[in-house]
Amino acid sequence: MNRCFKPFVKLAKKFIWLNAGALCRVLNRPAENGVLILQYHSISPLKSRELWYIHPSLSIHPRDFERQMAIVRRYFEPVSLGRLLRWVDEGQNARKLPLAVTFDDGYRDNFTHAFPILRKYNIPATFYLTSECMDAKNPLWTTELRGLILNSSRSNIVLSTLACAHKLKDPASRLGAIRDIKARMVKLPRNQREIAMEEIRRETAASRRHTDEMKRVMLKWEHVERMLRCGMDFGAHTMTHPSLPHIPVDEAMVEIAGSRTAIEARIGRHVLHFCYPNPGDVPHFNARIQRILKNFGFLSAVTSIPGRFTWDADLLALKRKGIYRPYHRSPAEFFFWLQREALTIA
Ligand SMILES: [Zn+2]
Repeated sequence: MNRCFKPFVKLAKKFIWLNAGALCRVLNRPAENGVLILQYHSISPLKSRELWYIHPSLSIHPRDFERQMAIVRRYFEPVSLGRLLRWVDEGQNARKLPLAVTFDDGYRDNFTHAFPILRKYNIPATFYLTSECMDAKNPLWTTELRGLILNSSRSNIVLSTLACAHKLKDPASRLGAIRDIKARMVKLPRNQREIAMEEIRRETAASRRHTDEMKRVMLKWEHVERMLRCGMDFGAHTMTHPSLPHIPVDEAMVEIAGSRTAIEARIGRHVLHFCYPNPGDVPHFNARIQRILKNFGFLSAVTSIPGRFTWDADLLALKRKGIYRPYHRSPAEFFFWLQREALTIA
């Protein structure tokens, strides 16, 4: 950004923040058209260059997350996704706009860093779990791929299963390799993806220390049980995080039903909400997958499509407001983007 504009941008941000109260009075009108569902992934104090298990833009620092939740508590009515659906259905008037906080994938840092803050501000969030990654099993395949490539001691790898070769000489070439390998794997059915991952494990020669570290990335069921007792809610996010439209339909059904059964067995209540995995830059749901969810009796499914929850929304294709590290560093920015999204509602 041109240096001349910087002071003005700073001033504009300050102005927005200082006038938050007045802007919120606009927000507090009974909503006519829609509300917000926030989409988070990871909450971690690690610096961007240290984050090996997730793309840094998808991880929010706990300090920033706490500021964001303070804003949510102060200016919105944070509710669970189930209550948000009822609220929209019944068209209730509320003094504040309701808002749902959601987390994708089931990273353990959700328990360590997000949960204490959610409790502090009494915010009931919904966590979408990838059931086969729970309890110290392998993490999401995208997480494992990232970890293996970034931490490999090798300077190049050759993958016959994916017909590619990559140099791993610096961080940039490693990130390029991750992008390319992910694109080659994202449409594979589970058995082929696992064969490819086995080769990547061999080729990258992961150390024992790092393999152990990988097993600590995702939540354990005991964490889920503790969060459940404190009012948190849980939804299904498949068993292994595939791109559902690109795998055989039978496999997609197993992924959906299997994750729901596993979560229900642990939490002792029906799982009615689903989140489409979005592991790569390809469409992450379609009408066929939506029909499967409908037949299975899911009440809602959230997507990674940016936007708000409008009254005429397809409940099996809900849009969300993704919260990303680079764009929401200051409370003013966070509040600005929330308002911008919400103010266009009325
Ligand atoms: Zn996901």
